[in-house]
Amino acid sequence: MTIPVMKPWLGEEEVAAAAATIASGWIAQGPRVREFEAAFADRVGAAQAVAVSSCTAALHLALLLLDVGVGDEVVVPSFSFIATANAVRHAGGVPTFADVDPVTGNLTGKTVEQALTDRTKAVLLVHQAGVPADVDEVRAVCSARSIPVVEDAACAAGSRLGDGPVGRGALMAAWSFHPRKLLTTGEGGMLTTDDVEWARRARRLREHGMSVSAADRHAMARVVLEEYLESGFNYRMTDLQAAVGLVQLRKLDEMVTRRRALADRYRQLLRDVAGLQLVTDPPHGQTNYQSFWVVLPDDFPVTRDELLGLMLTAGVSCRPGIMAAHLQPPYAGARFALPVTERLTRRSVILPLFHTMSHGQQDVVARVLQRAAA
Ligand SMILES: *Cc1c(COP(=O)(O)O)cnc(C)c1O
Repeated sequence: MTIPVMKPWLGEEEVAAAAATIASGWIAQGPRVREFEAAFADRVGAAQAVAVSSCTAALHLALLLLDVGVGDEVVVPSFSFIATANAVRHAGGVPTFADVDPVTGNLTGKTVEQALTDRTKAVLLVHQAGVPADVDEVRAVCSARSIPVVEDAACAAGSRLGDGPVGRGALMAAWSFHPRKLLTTGEGGMLTTDDVEWARRARRLREHGMSVSAADRHAMARVVLEEYLESGFNYRMTDLQAAVGLVQLRKLDEMVTRRRALADRYRQLLRDVAGLQLVTDPPHGQTNYQSFWVVLPDDFPVTRDELLGLMLTAGVSCRPGIMAAHLQPPYAGARFALPVTERLTRRSVILPLFHTMSHGQQDVVARVLQRAAA
């Protein structure tokens, strides 16, 4: 028996939606994408949603809309999937790594403030592993200097901030539909914002800079010659993906409820492991538990990598904790010391958590950890 770290929750409805799209004859960006955008915008409380091919693409577009260019600094956490930093490079900018809070794994007002310079053009605030970052606190630091805050909400569909969904009130937020996240379309992403002009330009940039989208041109009864108003990208989502996304979006609440129940059960099962730190809700919101990560205490009897080995032997697929970009070759070294990031990345483990996970499977995972701790 192998227990995966994550498994998308897909069923007959997704199969039927994809099949119906194929049967319709229109599979590239078209009516399903538009429908998915409207439904997603509504779900996260944004006025506009622009579907794209990945969250990395959405982050890239967000930075371009803010005019991030060569030499501009963008403050990001190193403690994130490397795409966060890569998006800054794609725009020509320079990622400036700031440290994170030891409990949430997110940037804070204080760590961001320490990383700001005269060349800071924007801040990319990650809701890491679905745990909502304290957006108000970071914004308060940034707005004093008129620095825009973009939210990397790749993992955070279904998470809550204050009394609303993550995404509500965001200047711009970027989302991922990779199968490692809750809601999946295979690959895919979304850029949300309340700004109509930004959304309009993002729609143009995702489709080669075309003045009229291919789908709109197709729907017109007259000859329309498009113009290419600026050099854009092919960042389109397909109708096949959007059809699956529409079904997944309807299941999102149920996914979050299930993950939160399983996370509570992990907390019960692991409460006797001395010194073990478990990911949890911050005071200002609720996580969707995109990842259930734990931090081993310094005096844990086995090393982190030995624990991963023990899990594997027991048929459990775990992952080392969230990576630190500044420890990888493209970003080697950091201008500021990042002691919290380095400790979390070396001492943490992501435990399996997926919608159809059984209590029996959870017991297996907990037992390996308990035995290793004994
Ligand atoms: C997964 C992830 C991304 C990248 O998402 P893609 O859709 O694969 O491009 C970016 N940022 C964070 C924090 C992520 O977890």
